[in-house]
Amino acid sequence: MEQVRKHSRKRDAILRCVRSTDCHPTADWVFSRLKPEIPDLSLGTVYRNLAMFKEEGTILSLGVVNGLERFDRRIDPHSHLICQCCSRVVDVEAMDLPETICQEAARQTGGAITGWKLQFVGLCDKCKATQK
Ligand SMILES: [Zn+2]
Ligand SMILES: [Zn+2]
Repeated sequence: MEQVRKHSRKRDAILRCVRSTDCHPTADWVFSRLKPEIPDLSLGTVYRNLAMFKEEGTILSLGVVNGLERFDRRIDPHSHLICQCCSRVVDVEAMDLPETICQEAARQTGGAITGWKLQFVGLCDKCKATQK
């Protein structure tokens, strides 16, 4: 019983941590944030729980940026700007794409398009400011 309680306490803390930030954290980021608070936390536990939340659809993974998987508390449709300088991930609100893009993709592949993912790359506002 004690084991179960400890288990869900870690689980809750990990989810709370991801939900507390819009920085699209990595597992390592979550781990280093929670370690002082939960000394017996392991990186493996963080990975396992994040994978489980992702599976459940509680959080999203936006894929790998610079070799590290990034997680997102937002599960509503939106896009991202990925900074090629500092690896920051910035939310971009959903926008309508011209219908022709999906039609063209369907034409080229002979498949049926049901959705799309759009990712912007470039510089975040901070890196843009320092490069002037
Ligand atoms: Zn940047
Ligand atoms: Zn996002």
